[in-house]
Amino acid sequence: MKSVITPLQQALKSKKISSVELTKRYIQKIESKNKDIVSYVYTDFDYALSAAKKADKIIGGDGVSPLTGIPFSLKDNICTKDIPTTCCSKLLSNFKPNYSATAYKKLVSCGAVLLGKTNMDEFGMGSSCETSAYGAPKNPINLNKVTGGSSGGSASSVSADLAAYSLGSDTGGSIRQPASFCGVVGFKPTYGTVSRYGLIAYASSLDQIGPITTSVSDAAIVYDAIKGADGYDATSLSASGGKSRLTGEVKGLKIGVDEQFFAAADKSVVAAVENAIKTYERAGAIMKSVNIPSLKLALPAYCVIACAEASSNLAKFDAIRYGLRVEDGCKDLSFIANSRAQGFGKEVQKRILLGTYLLSEGGIGYYKKALAIKRKLINEFAQTFTKCDFLFTPTDGQRVFNLGYSGDNSAQNHLSDVCTVPVNLAGLPAVSLPCGKDSEGLPIGLQIIGNAFYDEKLLSCAYFAEINSLCASFNAKGGIADEL
Ligand code: GLN
Repeated sequence: MKSVITPLQQALKSKKISSVELTKRYIQKIESKNKDIVSYVYTDFDYALSAAKKADKIIGGDGVSPLTGIPFSLKDNICTKDIPTTCCSKLLSNFKPNYSATAYKKLVSCGAVLLGKTNMDEFGMGSSCETSAYGAPKNPINLNKVTGGSSGGSASSVSADLAAYSLGSDTGGSIRQPASFCGVVGFKPTYGTVSRYGLIAYASSLDQIGPITTSVSDAAIVYDAIKGADGYDATSLSASGGKSRLTGEVKGLKIGVDEQFFAAADKSVVAAVENAIKTYERAGAIMKSVNIPSLKLALPAYCVIACAEASSNLAKFDAIRYGLRVEDGCKDLSFIANSRAQGFGKEVQKRILLGTYLLSEGGIGYYKKALAIKRKLINEFAQTFTKCDFLFTPTDGQRVFNLGYSGDNSAQNHLSDVCTVPVNLAGLPAVSLPCGKDSEGLPIGLQIIGNAFYDEKLLSCAYFAEINSLCASFNAKGGIADEL
């Protein structure tokens, strides 16, 4: 794992390269590679170059952000004023928001350079990016493999060096799991510490924006730039202010291990994560066995809560206020059903139907039970964090799978969510970092989970892996930062 942001920042500061030149290099790479891997679903290079020009005017001045002049990519469910934001759905194919998300605005105010919007599972629903209306992106490490999802375009753009970093969103693992599959770092912060204003909601009580980067130190830089309470998001909270300090000090840290996270995992995944734990132990960390009794109920509870909220959140896409409108031969208001039937893909329709049932008289009992499980999990995690500082788990117990493997089998897709969804239900921070390779040379992700609001300490714990070369490096060889 190597930082890309820091060397780029140094090169910009020392005038070794200008932001315009740097942006042109990324544009060239995107033009040659994106047709194969489809990380981006929208690019506007004139827009990027004009942002770079502005950045060049302030670079070198006082108080300039570490992100000034550095090109990044953005998941296509994060609103960008006057720039298409489609959630990779046919339904929003012509949607240009008239406002921008707070997290994106914060990057713009740092002078960061947006290259384009990235591919994703439609409305964030999936674990392979194959529900995208634009077709699935391909894993840059092996083009026959999926990128993971739903922020697969963001993760692959960083892995293939088509952006210095990206923002994704995570409702049940969508930052961490694709980061794991593409061999990069994905950080899902504590719920609320990054504003969700302008993030097109999938399940509002679980959604969180966060960075996808090539290194833990880069994740901290991006997190510091986007965190903080926001008057436009009543659920946002202020994180610890200022710059995160990463020491990588792990002596005496208690690492909790709950066997349930490993139960269904592939052998090579278990071996890589266990090896990571041993490396931490050698540096003085102490392993502790822990047990989170309700863990096995997390995935069913997630499916219920996420679908229920999705059915409510997606009700506004009614062909009147937004999006695709298919009127041919429709009488009265039947164009609403017609447009939704043609605009939403199968997975989204399935989740809306399930969620609508769960919020009806017949299904509400399941919804209430799921909420009770969520509450229990919050308490059990809090209890667990009195016994240990962090939990170590695989990010995804499965190895990176082939394109077409899970098809439209959502049960298969949800197997990828087992280790990640408990974190969202409990609102906790968690990071995924590459900790090994399987027999096909594909990355394996280690997930480290922290207690709520321990984001900085969590990143510092993960930073140990970075400075001790524990993590396998999947950074694109000959990346732009290496050339400078
Ligand atoms: N894979 C999970 C799902 O399909 C999580 C997706 C997400 O985090 N947006 O629901």
